Amino acid sequence: MRIDLHTHSSVSDGTETPAELLATARNAGLDVVALTDHDTTDGWAEAERTRPAGLTVVPGMELSCRWFLPDQPPISVHLLAYLFDPRHPALVDELVRLRTERLSRGERIVQNLVDDGYPLVWDDIVAGCSGGVIGRPHVARALVRAGAVGSVDEAFASLLHHRSPYYVAKADTEVIDGIRIVRDAGGVPVFAHGLARKRGRVLDDDTVRAMAEAGLLGIEVDHPDHDPEERAHMSGLAKELDLVTTGSSDYHGTNKTTPIAACTTEPEQLEMLLALGTGSPVYRD
Ligand code: AMP
Ligand code: FE
Ligand code: FE
Ligand code: ZN
Repeated sequence: MRIDLHTHSSVSDGTETPAELLATARNAGLDVVALTDHDTTDGWAEAERTRPAGLTVVPGMELSCRWFLPDQPPISVHLLAYLFDPRHPALVDELVRLRTERLSRGERIVQNLVDDGYPLVWDDIVAGCSGGVIGRPHVARALVRAGAVGSVDEAFASLLHHRSPYYVAKADTEVIDGIRIVRDAGGVPVFAHGLARKRGRVLDDDTVRAMAEAGLLGIEVDHPDHDPEERAHMSGLAKELDLVTTGSSDYHGTNKTTPIAACTTEPEQLEMLLALGTGSPVYRD
């Protein structure tokens, strides 16, 4: 059994449609894949409709959250969520708010770049993203098309990283609220790439303990942005807190160099996760 529980389609900031992504998953020899687009469930219907025979699909999402600190900027936290009810009213409201926030914040980042002479056209960038789920990778691709940088990675390294003068933060969901909303919707909240330091500051262990207290059910341990020591640390924390551990590629098509199935989840961990989710069924034969 090969299981990858974190992938993005073109419904958010990946480059393959959900149907293409599932074909990629099957061709890579995966038995189980989760679709976890940022802040949207809009890809679920296509995934259910186009699922190749023999592939199990876990419907999911990656919710943009933040942890507030006194006298300091908040820390960005990505919360994977699986098997929740996508019609849960509080969740639907929060996703609408997040996508509206993505649009206004994306426009501000683009305006900052335009003010400095980068030849970007906001309307073109929005037209190239599905359902308003715009993120920095869309801006990165526009910078590549404009010839301002050679690649998406270079765009992040030089212009779009979180310390860049062009960067604007999003007003993401307070993470304890996010955990509660996902649980209320019958879902399984899992802390994504929690020690990925290149993305910004990371949470300390006591904050993860507070998240577990609030209802967190899992920790993503094996992730391309975690080195062996970080994986060992997260694994120890999951053991202490009695949480499910997952592994995944965080595949984004050609927006990242990581291939699908670069990291995978143990079958017994998947079984525990599936047993905890009550808001939506998995898609399987
Ligand atoms: P945003 O949600 O708009 O803040 O953008 C964050 C997204 O940018 C992440 O989900 C990744 O898909 C992508 N990303 C972040 N850092 C990098 C990087 N160094 N290279 C390529 N993509 C990145
Ligand atoms: Fe992403
Ligand atoms: Fe993430
Ligand atoms: Zn992701």
